[in-house]
Amino acid sequence: MKKVVKFGGSSLASAEQFKKVGDIIHADDSRKYVVPSAPGKRFSEDTKVTDLLYKCYDEAVAGQKEYEKVLEEIKMRYKEIIAGLGLKLSLDKEFEVINEKFLNRAGSDYAASRGEYLNGIVMANYLGYEFIDAAKVIFFDEDGNFDAEKTDRVLSRKLEGVERAVIPGFYGVCPNGAIKTFSRGGSDVTGSIVAKAAKVDLYENWTDVSGFLTADPRIVNNPESIKIITYKELRELSYMGATVLHEDAIFPVRQEGIPINIKNTNAPEDEGTLIVGDTCRKPSHTITGIAGKKGFTAVNIEKDMMNSEIGFGRKVLQVFEDCGISFEHIPSGIDTMTVFVHQTEFEEKEQKVLSGINRLAKPDAIDLEADLALIAVVGRGMKSNHGTAAKIFEALAKSDINIKMIDQGSSELNIIIGVRNEDFEKAIRAIYEIFVFEE
Ligand code: ASP
Repeated sequence: MKKVVKFGGSSLASAEQFKKVGDIIHADDSRKYVVPSAPGKRFSEDTKVTDLLYKCYDEAVAGQKEYEKVLEEIKMRYKEIIAGLGLKLSLDKEFEVINEKFLNRAGSDYAASRGEYLNGIVMANYLGYEFIDAAKVIFFDEDGNFDAEKTDRVLSRKLEGVERAVIPGFYGVCPNGAIKTFSRGGSDVTGSIVAKAAKVDLYENWTDVSGFLTADPRIVNNPESIKIITYKELRELSYMGATVLHEDAIFPVRQEGIPINIKNTNAPEDEGTLIVGDTCRKPSHTITGIAGKKGFTAVNIEKDMMNSEIGFGRKVLQVFEDCGISFEHIPSGIDTMTVFVHQTEFEEKEQKVLSGINRLAKPDAIDLEADLALIAVVGRGMKSNHGTAAKIFEALAKSDINIKMIDQGSSELNIIIGVRNEDFEKAIRAIYEIFVFEE
């Protein structure tokens, strides 16, 4: 059995947290490859090292004196961890290089990546594991896209000869030698890439919560946690706002059928959430989770005999494409079609879209409805259960919520409901209650 373990910033924010991580790694001999994030927040008003690095670099580039103060603050964060762990390690040389590169404008990606780089050195020293710089094994192409093929080739060869190693998360290297990062939270992606290359049995992703919750705890009081979820269900929920794991972290391991276990560094005995390709284990409820987002606009388009006009939909969507606006859902009636778009994205180009539709599709009327929210009710259990949509309708009707839209994909994995922004929280609570509480 071989595992990759990735630790998030809050798991590595202080020496005390590092010790918990050390205990977790030593408790299971199969935890061979470790992917650390940069030190995160120690308390709620604290600043993540990654944010300090961005700030420090901006100030260095702007020639501001503050720069040295921020760099000192970053040094202190690492010094405290090193001292707290009782290590004989100095990062002075590393900081000299960083200082020089900042002044030579090595780029903000380089700057941000140093958080993980330095934490990787500390972690490797603490564990006595080999340190592998991600710049030697994670590659981006000329256009700045992740080069999965080259990375897998080089990284898997490298790991074949290394029994235990620390590989810092979040960054890699471009063909010209420049450092590039993934988007924020990208150490999750590195963990997944390493898991694939090392052909491990499990990718453990350690964070500060005991896995995914059935609903947002800011909306539902003390929601149940999800024990097991499929990649498909997770994709639906994360797309709709449930964030524990970086969206792109799913793809490398999914291809290989490697499960991800989300675990809590502060409560390691908790089971967490297991993310799998498929499972025959019955979900605890018909639905696995509820998530949603506010801030949508519905563009309602009407035209008599629309149903028989071939190409009408294409013309409408062509306008959205030309304006660079992605759409979320397109429920349609006989002579109407509605396009749901993100409000902020749409607002800027609103008039351009309207005139484009008028010109290309010649509708009878277009009307806009703003301030809508979309809620995704997700669950593999829906397929084998009848009456799910009826139950949702019932719950919302009882709470006096008007449903603006309902859309069920043919996979029967999710039902999307459109409501007014102001009904969003109430709707989620009503759905949670009827499916989780009462089932
Ligand atoms: N340290 C980076 C961030 O704050 C990457 C990560 O933590 O995964 O976004």
